[in-house]
Amino acid sequence: MQEPIQTAREAREGAPHLFHTRNHCATGCPGFSRLSALDSPIHPLTDPHPMFTKTKTIRGPLRLYYDRLFEAYGPQHWWPAEDRFEVIIGAILTQNTTWNNVERAIANLKREGLMSPKALHRLPVRRLGSIIRPSGYYNVKAVRIKSFLTFLIDQYGGDLEKMFKETTKKLRRFLLDINGIGPETADSILLYAGGRPIFVIDAYTRRILSRHGLVSPRSTYGVLQDFFMKGLPPSPRLYNEYHALLIEVGKHHCRKEPICSGCPLERFLIGKRPKSVRDL
Ligand code: SF4
Repeated sequence: MQEPIQTAREAREGAPHLFHTRNHCATGCPGFSRLSALDSPIHPLTDPHPMFTKTKTIRGPLRLYYDRLFEAYGPQHWWPAEDRFEVIIGAILTQNTTWNNVERAIANLKREGLMSPKALHRLPVRRLGSIIRPSGYYNVKAVRIKSFLTFLIDQYGGDLEKMFKETTKKLRRFLLDINGIGPETADSILLYAGGRPIFVIDAYTRRILSRHGLVSPRSTYGVLQDFFMKGLPPSPRLYNEYHALLIEVGKHHCRKEPICSGCPLERFLIGKRPKSVRDL
């Protein structure tokens, strides 16, 4: 049985479902088929949640932006997957492509009955590449998936439960040592598959924050991550939802050519509107 990330105390107190698969939920609720770190909506204005009061009160732009995005889009139920392994494979496949393409590659893997560490480890890398072809850069990604599997099998006998027993710091270091796993992929694995309180930074996040003058466009990944992690309580649920909401506004509005008109964050724009990605 998959180890629940939700604590026993949270389960007792009826906290939102934190991690579940098709067959298992820490609170024992039936009928779920998607993995998500946030199945119950958290809206700090209308439904105060302990995460907003336990460690510190969120104020300033991080709070305003979150509330506005949540009001506009509601809960995102991200990451869409049936188990941790699928999250990890998806995190590698999503590098430099859209989620639609990832879904097609994942569907191919499932159709072939290959969505498990041992099945994928046995598969020749060329064959893996042809199966995940819809995700783009498929030969490179096949090698990256193989590198992760070699690590998982050599270090933990292919057991994700064992891997996720490592501390966040140590596991992040191990993941970053794997060929083709950078900070965004490593943090996606830690947050979405491991339920660790680590904020994922992606191109949308960088673009939105810098267009709004909250960070320099030249900020490093670490600086951007600190911006969130020093301003928010260390909650995987909150980080999950916040990142998913930023992706949503990025997809619909904060594209290379921004569509500020009608954007939920339009009211927070200060000064001149960005015209294109060159304005970053
Ligand atoms: S589209 Fe415009 S208003 Fe919306 S997040 Fe981007 S810069 Fe801000």
